[in-house]
Amino acid sequence: MDLFEYQARELFARHGVPVLDAYVVRDPAAAREAARRLGGRAVVKAQVKTGGRGKAGGVKLAADPQEAVDRAADILGMDIKGHRVGAVMLAEPAAIEAEFYVSYLLDRTRRTFLAIASSEGGVDIEEVAATRPQALATVPIDPQEGVTEDKAREIAAAAGLPPAAVPVLRALWRVFVAEDALLVEVNPLVRTADGRILALDGKVTLDDNARFRHPGHAGYDVADEGDPLEAAARAKNLNYVKLDGSVGIIGNGAGLVMSTLDVVAQCGAAPANFLDIGGGASATIMADGLGIVLGDPDVTAVFVNVFGGITACDAVADGIVQALARVELSKPLVVRLDGNNAELGRTILDAARHPLVRQLDTMDGAAAKAAELATAG
Ligand code: GDP
Ligand code: MN
Repeated sequence: MDLFEYQARELFARHGVPVLDAYVVRDPAAAREAARRLGGRAVVKAQVKTGGRGKAGGVKLAADPQEAVDRAADILGMDIKGHRVGAVMLAEPAAIEAEFYVSYLLDRTRRTFLAIASSEGGVDIEEVAATRPQALATVPIDPQEGVTEDKAREIAAAAGLPPAAVPVLRALWRVFVAEDALLVEVNPLVRTADGRILALDGKVTLDDNARFRHPGHAGYDVADEGDPLEAAARAKNLNYVKLDGSVGIIGNGAGLVMSTLDVVAQCGAAPANFLDIGGGASATIMADGLGIVLGDPDVTAVFVNVFGGITACDAVADGIVQALARVELSKPLVVRLDGNNAELGRTILDAARHPLVRQLDTMDGAAAKAAELATAG
């Protein structure tokens, strides 16, 4: 389970990681009192389970309580990478002098815990890793010993963090162990003008297998409001994930849908979503699925890729024809039917003669056509 920043901050405070005062509000008016309590000025931060909030305009400084209300109003309801902002955290502002990066994680490949740290924090750490890997220090941690004073000094020295960061590195390790985390990440960890080391951001992933040991974590299980289309899909029991591209994808079976995403990407287009309609693929499910995918303004073409199994292709084709009667199709739809009763399914769909629907026999051919139509549209 991934935590919101305000939840991570709570765990940090519990284990002695220095954080600044903060309040969470879900309504702009409540930001006034929160800012007052913080002394007037506040950093207003979107609470969504994704990074890059700063770049997306989800982190703003407010000079007084009225500005805090205004900034909260701006940020609440924003969409950040498909996550709707339902809450903002107001935090005491810090006078930042230097920004560092620190994380602890389980490296499954190397079968060890790792500390990754850098004196170049605050920025996108993936970019640092790609362009300046020498700026990232990677230090394995023995699970029996953990982050001792010596280990913390080793991490700080390797990454170029100031000696004052050593106790913070130890406290962060306590969070990692005591809370059964798989990831604890702080970006930025800062040094302030008055020499304090503070965690200004926090990302924590808890190990769901250890849930039973932490009854106190139950309260953290608040869903991210996420994408409205994802919420609509959940309400209809559809397995839908919004992605960044323009080719809407509908398929039956998670494995087939995954490989459909790959094939579309290989054709040079980007999938707009993952949607697995499962084994049933009835007219209702098909209509629901088409409705969700067509509701995405980024979609310029849709690719329905079905392999008939228990539900044969003729039933799926009937489903598509009935769905087309219910959903107004405004974008090209490419269909590939294969498997059980494929021929019959294709005949049914051809007979419907929908001007925006075209069929191709192979997955590769259909993906290429969908990619071409999406790019043209
Ligand atoms: P992220 O973009 O989602 O990682 O959100 P962060 O919490 O890391 O905030 C983004 C950036 O905003 C940080 O790297 C800081 O540079 C800046 N920021 C966050 N909190 C403060 C603060 O209290 N004072 C100042 N001056 N800048 C802050
Ligand atoms: Mn950050």
